[in-house]
Amino acid sequence: MTAESVLSRFNEATTDPLSKLSEMEKATGKKVVGGFLYDLPEEMLHAAGLQPLIFWGTNKPLSRADTLIQSFCCSLVRSTLELLADGTLDGLQGMLIPHVCDSAQQMSSIWKYNFQDKYTDDYYLPKKLRSQSSRDYLLAELNRFKGSVEGFCGGKITESSMEESIKLYNENRALMRELNDLRLNKPGVISDKDFYTSVKASMMMPKEEHSALMKELLGSLKDAPAGEEPEVKLVVSGLVWEPPELLDLFAEVGISIVGDDLYNGSRYFLKDVAEDGDPLEAMADRHINNLPCCCYHYPQQETAQHLIKLVKDTGAHGIVILELMFCEPQDFELPDLLKAFEEADIPELSLETEQQTTALGQMKTRLEAFVEMIGD
Ligand code: SF4
Repeated sequence: MTAESVLSRFNEATTDPLSKLSEMEKATGKKVVGGFLYDLPEEMLHAAGLQPLIFWGTNKPLSRADTLIQSFCCSLVRSTLELLADGTLDGLQGMLIPHVCDSAQQMSSIWKYNFQDKYTDDYYLPKKLRSQSSRDYLLAELNRFKGSVEGFCGGKITESSMEESIKLYNENRALMRELNDLRLNKPGVISDKDFYTSVKASMMMPKEEHSALMKELLGSLKDAPAGEEPEVKLVVSGLVWEPPELLDLFAEVGISIVGDDLYNGSRYFLKDVAEDGDPLEAMADRHINNLPCCCYHYPQQETAQHLIKLVKDTGAHGIVILELMFCEPQDFELPDLLKAFEEADIPELSLETEQQTTALGQMKTRLEAFVEMIGD
């Protein structure tokens, strides 16, 4: 397969994935369960014979979400509820909602109220990470969650099926890391937008198919010549790179993304689940040790220190924060981040985004001004 045809399949998989649920069920022979963006133990769902589809709403304009939730909730939650209100989510066999913030919790209650006959569970994540007590708590939660999934599937999830699923997911992460290394070592081989769409596709299609396509993609790109070194290299921080047009803007103003901590980016593929030892313990360890983000609490400004190191290690000229409007966890963290960047003398630009961002012209102007400022 050519790189173009693989990328076109990834584009197709990430465009309105929820409108193709019956096709996915037919192709996989599995029940499709939805998972809200954050840190679900997907390997466990796969081991149970389910097909997880990780999503976070829609980029389409919203017209019904405000009938279900306050307009001052973030657009990830509002646009997911838009899909509930317009019937798009009817085809899901179940929905799993990680408890990362009050808005997600509220969304879960609304989902349960509207779909009382469907399988639903919350995945109760610890707020503080990096401690033995968090790990103990998470392990207990993983055990509870496993029982819940088994109840839905009507059978036990065996240790060997968990091990197989962990291997499959690790292989998929390794392929995304390989593509990431390739694009960083050979600039221009794949655009930032195509790379991040490839990662997003992994969340929205069967891992088996995604890995097979990634191998085709890597095979067809490995001998491609490198382009010119990018003029402006930036780290991007936040929750998600949305809407997709944002990455077109970055390219238009000559920005190349050399590092990130995004949920639909590095956070999804950088860390593996250990393949030896107890699978649930290994999954807890991955979560506890994953990249820092605003949804959790860390000692000693770990998120800021991580991002400052990322900027230095990648030789980035600065950092762009994608600040999701009405995201409380991010709003609470931002002042500390900005202070730390200022002290470390790292140029920073905060862009307020929504899934439905329409002010792209304004954003472009701000990005151009930032690029100019960095170049001075
Ligand atoms: S963490 Fe922020 S963006 Fe994510 S669901 Fe909660 S409020 Fe919305």
